[in-house]
Amino acid sequence: MTGAPYQDPQLPVEQRVKDLLERMTLPEKVGQMLQLDAQGDVRHLVEDLHAGSILHAAPEQVLRAHELTAGTRLRIPLLVAEDCIHGHSFWRGATIFPTQLAMAATWDPALVERVARVTAVEVAATGIHWTFSPVLCIARDLRWGRVDETFGEDPLLIGELASAMVRGYQGDGLADPTAILATAKHFAGYSETQGGRDASEADISRRKLRSWFLPPFERVAREGCRTFMLGYQTMDGVPITVNDWLLSEVLREEWGYTGTLVTDWDNVGRMVWEQKVQPDHAHAAAAAVRAGNDMIMTTPQFFDGAQEAIGRGLIAEHDLDAAVGRILTLKFELGLFEDPRRPDPERIAAVVGADEHTEVNLDVTRRSLVLLRNDGVLPLAGGHAPGSPTDAAGRAAVAGPRRTVAVVGPLADDAQTQLGDWAGSSGQADWLRDGQPRELITTVLDGLRAHVPEGWTVTHAPGAQILDITPDPEGPFFPDGQPRPPLVAPATPDEQLLADAVARAHEADYVVAVVGDRVELVGEGRSTATLELVGSQVALLDALAATGTPLVVVLLASKPLVLPESALAAAALVWVANPGMQGGRAIAELLLGVVEPSGRLPISFARHVGQQPTYYNQIRGQHGTRYADLTQRPAFVFGEGLSYSTVEYSGLRLDADEVAAADVLRGGVTVRNTGARPVRETVQVYVSDTVTSASWADRELKTFTQVDLAPGETRVVALELPVAACTIVDAHGRRLVEPGAFELLVGPSSRSEDLLRASFTVRAGD
Ligand code: BGC
Repeated sequence: MTGAPYQDPQLPVEQRVKDLLERMTLPEKVGQMLQLDAQGDVRHLVEDLHAGSILHAAPEQVLRAHELTAGTRLRIPLLVAEDCIHGHSFWRGATIFPTQLAMAATWDPALVERVARVTAVEVAATGIHWTFSPVLCIARDLRWGRVDETFGEDPLLIGELASAMVRGYQGDGLADPTAILATAKHFAGYSETQGGRDASEADISRRKLRSWFLPPFERVAREGCRTFMLGYQTMDGVPITVNDWLLSEVLREEWGYTGTLVTDWDNVGRMVWEQKVQPDHAHAAAAAVRAGNDMIMTTPQFFDGAQEAIGRGLIAEHDLDAAVGRILTLKFELGLFEDPRRPDPERIAAVVGADEHTEVNLDVTRRSLVLLRNDGVLPLAGGHAPGSPTDAAGRAAVAGPRRTVAVVGPLADDAQTQLGDWAGSSGQADWLRDGQPRELITTVLDGLRAHVPEGWTVTHAPGAQILDITPDPEGPFFPDGQPRPPLVAPATPDEQLLADAVARAHEADYVVAVVGDRVELVGEGRSTATLELVGSQVALLDALAATGTPLVVVLLASKPLVLPESALAAAALVWVANPGMQGGRAIAELLLGVVEPSGRLPISFARHVGQQPTYYNQIRGQHGTRYADLTQRPAFVFGEGLSYSTVEYSGLRLDADEVAAADVLRGGVTVRNTGARPVRETVQVYVSDTVTSASWADRELKTFTQVDLAPGETRVVALELPVAACTIVDAHGRRLVEPGAFELLVGPSSRSEDLLRASFTVRAGD
């Protein structure tokens, strides 16, 4: 069909949508609402089911799907979607960045925006239009398997970084050929699991949602994030897929969201086979349509179910029009009818894994490293002068004694683990089983070998194994077709491995132990009951500590783990969540002092798994402040992180100590670099509302700013905060500023004793 109004790019989108809708048959409309898994027979999806979108399509399947669509009656282009959540995850040779949690440790929205932009440029070149990123879930229970996908525990930090990421993906608007659709997920409350168990019922009130879980979503909804993905869980017995309050009243009516809603994987089918709240697929389809879902992910049964529902009068055909219209609008706005944005071999060659993208990757990776402890052993090549850190070969340029560094631990040279979940061989896509090319990944061993000063020696021994895996006897797939994770058991101790590592440590001047978790302990359906280092890793650390050689622990772990005393009291401790392809280089540079540590924790570390949850902004009021057998204090708190220098805070002041709700609070704080090396300091600003009408957190992060200070430099940092940000959610669920006494808290972490305090009052009545 040519010359139809919907094919005329000069006509307004609304008119084109209306024209096309009128031409579509019922099966075509139902199919348009389907997003199906392309790891199978794509012809069936396009020709028989009239799919509007596909996901998990291998590169050749993307091409084939485009060709097939061009031969359909109305030639409605496909939306091709993928989880490109820290880079173009499953594209061979793409730039794989640190995970979202690692990126959060940068506390740098502008940098995160650059990462998303680079990702969009690589993704768009390969014929993919839509990424399922960012994740806006709040991580509170560290046992949950998807903590690594989040920006951590604080709603403000999550909102700042998510907003930046959405901007980066969507670029200058959908007409920009390098723009891809962003997805805010998983809307909402999915992370509030029971016992950390993935997708379990979330025991969460509407007030609690409004207090902490919804604000980041509201922000990106109002800023124009084009798609939202729903969570898996039920709340108050209602699956999110049919939660009318959340989807209609809050998202669409209150926030004015006009974008597209996509379910999560087989959410509609799950209501039948798993949650058992719908008797059959016709009822499930009708309920999903009535609740305002637009795109139904991987429930092929929706195709017959929706048609049957219409046949049985559960819904009417025109009930589909709003959803189909929204999907078509996206396609028109992306310009896909004129240019379906197929894979472009020339652009792929030019942009995927480009050198300037690697530079951005290196930058974000360096900034994501969090130094948690240092008795002065770091930087290892401490004698060299900052500012002229490397020789021509990129080695730390240092005069002084030649040193031997023993690099040990099961993750010192494990390239694929370093990439983390949702990348390469992590299991969600079936076409990159061996992972990303080894030569594109720098491990810690590679990094230290390449960057130690001339004449230094690097030795290596793995020291321990982490785990053994066996197939799950229940089979390789869940009933919905998702891969079922294998069973994990701690690896059997290997005395020889341990002895070799201890021998290397004895011979060395320093030992760098790289320990942590592996992808089998991370991800959907892979929550952990424990948080300890798995396998013989604790025995390894204990044995290394006993050698007396200064021990530097690099914790390469997807999420905060519980650490043994040998790590907590080691000479130095660095946390790096899965750092991506440049991880080993960035870590080596940090250990050697080529770069300065600047990462800050976006999430707290527990001392014991039984302390869950350990997030800093808990509600005031309980008997006592500790367990009978253990402190409640986390091992490391939100906001914490060291530099190779020290920073002193003083002179916190406010311009006025009485303000109105419409005012902006202004003041300043003095920060001084009291050490001998440069610092990038993250100045954190919290607010404490002294008395609240309903119980509330003792303090909440309200803003932050980063300043670079040369050795000895003093700076007055200007503080600015709209009083309108000093809200609570009252017992009726209303967000408001309650007049009365407040405190502004400023300092280098969320820990009470790290914060300077200034009182102010918000006047009533104006
Ligand atoms: C996950 C989503 C993901 C989707 C598509 C689901 O199982 O929960 O986060 O985007 O699969 O791969």
